[in-house]
Amino acid sequence: MAEHESLEFGKADFVLLDNVSMEDFMANLKLRFEKGRIYTYIGEVVVSVNPYRAMNIYGRDTIEQYKGRELYERPPHLFAIADAAYKAMKRRNKDTCIVISGESGAGKTEASKYIMQYIAAITNPNQRAEVERVKNMLLKSNCVLEAFGNAKTNRNDNSSRFGKYMDINFDFKGDPIGGHINNYLLEKSRVIFQQEGERSFHSFYQLLRGAPDSLLRSLHIQKEPTSYNYIRVGGNIKSSINDGADFKAVSDAMKVIGFTGDEVQTVYKILATILHLGNLTFGVDGDVTLIENTKLMSVIRELLSTKEENVEKALLYRTVSTGRDVIEKQHTEQEASYGRDALAKAMYERLFCWIVGRINDIIEVKNYDARIHGKNTVIGVLDIYGFEIFQNNSFEQFCINYCNEKLQQLFIQLVLRQEQEEYQREGIPWKHIDYFNNQIIVDLVEQQHKGIISVLDEACMNVGKVTDEVFLQGLNSKLAKHAHYTSRKLSPTDKSLEFDRDFRIRHYAGDVVAFIRAYVYISCVPCANPVLKGMWPEGKLSITEVTKRPLTAATLFRNSMISLVENLACKEPYYVRCIKPNDVKSPLLFEQERCRHQVEYLGLLENVRVRRAGFAYRQTYPRFLQRYKMISEFTWPNHDLPSDKDAVKRLLQGCGFDHDVAYGKTKVFIRTPRTLFSLEEQRTEMI
Ligand code: ADP
Ligand code: MG
Repeated sequence: MAEHESLEFGKADFVLLDNVSMEDFMANLKLRFEKGRIYTYIGEVVVSVNPYRAMNIYGRDTIEQYKGRELYERPPHLFAIADAAYKAMKRRNKDTCIVISGESGAGKTEASKYIMQYIAAITNPNQRAEVERVKNMLLKSNCVLEAFGNAKTNRNDNSSRFGKYMDINFDFKGDPIGGHINNYLLEKSRVIFQQEGERSFHSFYQLLRGAPDSLLRSLHIQKEPTSYNYIRVGGNIKSSINDGADFKAVSDAMKVIGFTGDEVQTVYKILATILHLGNLTFGVDGDVTLIENTKLMSVIRELLSTKEENVEKALLYRTVSTGRDVIEKQHTEQEASYGRDALAKAMYERLFCWIVGRINDIIEVKNYDARIHGKNTVIGVLDIYGFEIFQNNSFEQFCINYCNEKLQQLFIQLVLRQEQEEYQREGIPWKHIDYFNNQIIVDLVEQQHKGIISVLDEACMNVGKVTDEVFLQGLNSKLAKHAHYTSRKLSPTDKSLEFDRDFRIRHYAGDVVAFIRAYVYISCVPCANPVLKGMWPEGKLSITEVTKRPLTAATLFRNSMISLVENLACKEPYYVRCIKPNDVKSPLLFEQERCRHQVEYLGLLENVRVRRAGFAYRQTYPRFLQRYKMISEFTWPNHDLPSDKDAVKRLLQGCGFDHDVAYGKTKVFIRTPRTLFSLEEQRTEMI
């Protein structure tokens, strides 16, 4: 295994540790990080530690070293995993996926980009123009998605605030012919509020710092972010980001991808509208709530191509349905500002989803193409937020952490449980490995009727009457006894908290306190801009917060997670597990405790144990013979032994590999990959 690496750099595969303990695991991880070896295997899983410095390991020469090689022939690298996924797809006609996980700032998005770059570099040897075009689109789409979906946070200057799953489709030659992007849960609360030291989405600052003056004038926008309430906090933050240059790059990318001039203009109008909305203030006159800045209202109306009364009405009234009647009720001043913020968030979210949709329109493989290309296989790349545990956790953290529980469950199923179950089925001696099965937490969130999401749905059935109190009562009555659930009423004197009660989920990664605010505002703004209309298929701009019958945002998210996991489960998975070495973006610091915690909740030690107890390769007897019978005189061209199993035994004994294999009921299991390579070599020599 990775014999090119000397021991001075530690073990290239955790499976080779003399002793599988947390101490030894951590010592190896630390040694390798300090020696600049940021990747280490656990079998076919890549463990990566963010180096926080430029590494000279992604160039053309490195790509050449990994191209077409077996995983263990070269030092651990993302390229090796990308190549393995690609080979499996091409040789065995299998859909594969690469699941990249880890907490914010651990290096997931960078990893996904290197993987895409690698795939782009090794495909299309004949330089077919159409394939080059597709590759260019796939790479360019990233730049647009990052502008609208990423932001500077305290953990990461370019933090993805959405989950992304991208399928790349390949034709029978193994060349990319298209793709599809699924996005998950944009952190839209960032549109109206950011923590100190953080920024809103890059797109806003890019517009302000990069757009030509004439464009800014037409949008009635000032250059200074501090002029706008929604982005004031992050307005003066210094960072390595060059918003001005990025504006140009993104608008060029949108053009290349195929956004029309009108579409791009509308995108800018929406960004401007959101900034203006944030500066609207409300007042009261007697018992009437009103908008104080009338000039600003007319700017917003102009940008949205809508009549003034429409927007005003949407901001000042809500429609409430009581049985059969629909009545309009005036907002209080506070309700109006909630409604304004909800509209801003909803607009941004729709904008983002619309952008993803437009990119998909262009990169998707059309039926017509599929006929030409024939067989079509897929490599999926999942780059999705890791566990987030903050002081104050919102609905978004609730969803993000639930998503991670789902992925952990998939990992357990695919890597740990399936292995164990197969050995049992095959009657291979097996020492059971204890692991924490987090299904219980997944159920706590998603179970029908009893789970938190169902309770939220139920609470939201009472439109207009749903409160945090109702929701929490529902939770307490159903879940009080659950081992991973607690709730409490907070002392009203604790002024640091906006809420006076909370519930707590004991996640795999640690305790998370979740506050959920469930209010409903539904209002509509008809508008005349055709692009805008396209973003709101209902034909109207609508404000909806957390809850909208019949499906709440939580239920939609649960459904999208369930289908994501189903989709991943039917592909051959490859894993990249990213670790963040410290909180200060330092290339030198390996914070022991911090890393240990990540190793723990990623289940890496359990992964090593299962892998060590396990076998790298397995095949049914007849298929094994079919492939290797030519290397033994006992099996070539046919054997006369009582069974294929006996023949395989004979073959392997003859090669001296008997010690490295186990014979199951229907399959032969080979422990180390080296044995397999040796078989492959002998086979190649014979044919
Ligand atoms: P995540 O997507 O997990 O939140 P990112 O992939 O955005 O994290 O990485 C955060 C930052 O860490 C990057 O902006 C970059 O500065 C640094 N980084 C991550 N991976 C690498 C790498 N392989 N080489 C150099 N720097 C990296
Ligand atoms: Mg990211």
